[in-house]
Amino acid sequence: MIAIVGGGIAGLAAARRLQGHGRDVRVFEASGQVGGLAATTETAGDPIETFYHHLSASEETIVELLDDLGLREDLEWPIGKNAYYVDGTVHPMDKPWEILAFPHWSLYDKFRLGMLTLDVDVRGGIPSFDTYDDLEEFEDVPVKEFCIEHTTRNVYETFFEPLLEAKFGERMEDVSAAWLLGRIKFRGERDLLRGEPLGYLDGGFGRLNDALVEDVGREHIDTNARVTNVGTADGELRTVTVEHSDPGEDGFTNVETVDADAVVVAAMPNVLEALTGYECEITFQGTVCSIVSMDRQLTDTYWLNIADDAPFGALIEHTNFVSPERYGGEHLLYVPKYVQSPEDPVWQMTDDEVEAHWLDGIADLFPEFDRSHVNWVSTARNPRTAPVYERGYLDMVIPYHLDSEVAEGVYYAGMASRAQYPERSLNGGIVAGYECADRIAGEK
Ligand SMILES: Cc1cc2nc3c(=O)[nH]c(=O)nc-3n(C[C@H](O)[C@H](O)[C@H](O)COP(=O)(O)OP(=O)(O)OC[C@H]3O[C@@H](n4cnc5c(N)ncnc54)[C@H](O)[C@@H]3O)c2cc1C
Repeated sequence: MIAIVGGGIAGLAAARRLQGHGRDVRVFEASGQVGGLAATTETAGDPIETFYHHLSASEETIVELLDDLGLREDLEWPIGKNAYYVDGTVHPMDKPWEILAFPHWSLYDKFRLGMLTLDVDVRGGIPSFDTYDDLEEFEDVPVKEFCIEHTTRNVYETFFEPLLEAKFGERMEDVSAAWLLGRIKFRGERDLLRGEPLGYLDGGFGRLNDALVEDVGREHIDTNARVTNVGTADGELRTVTVEHSDPGEDGFTNVETVDADAVVVAAMPNVLEALTGYECEITFQGTVCSIVSMDRQLTDTYWLNIADDAPFGALIEHTNFVSPERYGGEHLLYVPKYVQSPEDPVWQMTDDEVEAHWLDGIADLFPEFDRSHVNWVSTARNPRTAPVYERGYLDMVIPYHLDSEVAEGVYYAGMASRAQYPERSLNGGIVAGYECADRIAGEK
């Protein structure tokens, strides 16, 4: 039997792949529901992801999985409109003429940014088309230095800096240029006339979790089952210990130790460390993210980056991407903030305080916004939701097979896996799960 620690997308994908290789699996999920960071929240219609989710056109493995599970027909590619809020004005930023009209950049700024996004290095006046091919060459280059050299200082200060600050807070200057280049490549082809198509599953990505559970078989998945020990002897995995709790009861009651041929730890690196002692040096940031349900639209943008002072770096109006009709007419807005430590004042706030903080911030940006437009606010928080992609990151990723680091039979598929670079995603979780499953089956 192969034990899988964690019933998020990586654990479920690993389980399914292992079954495809003819292996017997058991998935242990500590919480009461599968899905991990892609779990969902109820609305008046379809459930919605508790944290915002969409796919980029460059992601293929998840599309193949949806196909295998009979869900591909329900994968839609609406345009996710982007805009930038600067000096009290929303500037649409999708189409070439919208970017040309952006008043905070000179023509030269626009040219330099355009060339970078097209992968053309124009430093020194001679275009070069292969400078950005090998991302590893930029692993140790600070992102700020890179942006200023490869675009302009004004583009850095008015565009990249606010985005980096929203994403990485005080850690922004530690981030590598490789991460930024990877992000530019990671995004799919844009439709010049309409903007960037982004993938969304009709009914929400919770349907993917549900389909995986059905396919793997509920009898192979234990929820409320926390793995507390990985037992090794003579350099080999022997057992996995699990504490089961009865749903609704506090505390874990039954303790079970099972023999296992291999274990895939499909959870955050701190879980791997607690179970095996393997220390990962990657630092993670947390997220406080609320869903604000409103009776009307706030803007007509899906993803609004905010350069002005605000308690959040972006507002993500999901129902400008997916119709509000799917949610019983509710207009749903995500308000997220990444936090670098538990000392962050937003992390310390109660949910009611977070709600008041966000709504004050929205009212400051949009004077016509009124709290009477709000139906409800639901706030989620998680202390580990995204790595800080700092310089030297690739040296810190956790190998899929930890035979020499921990013991034969111990595997890792999680957010610190190579597949989750340059951006963590559902697709990356699936790839990480497959990488471990294929190694266990001896196919890699
Ligand atoms: C704010 C935010 C926005 C995002 N946006 C996108 C997006 O737009 N597109 C996209 O594709 N992805 C997005 N993601 C990323 C995506 O959600 C993750 O990459 C993916 O869900 C990670 O899956 P995972 O299975 O590796 O980990 P997780 O989802 O973290 O699953 C790990 C599971 O392990 C369980 N667990 C932990 N310890 C134990 C234990 N000891 N025993 C048993 N179980 C345990 C946990 O309860 C959890 O369910 C976003 C994530 C966040 C937070």
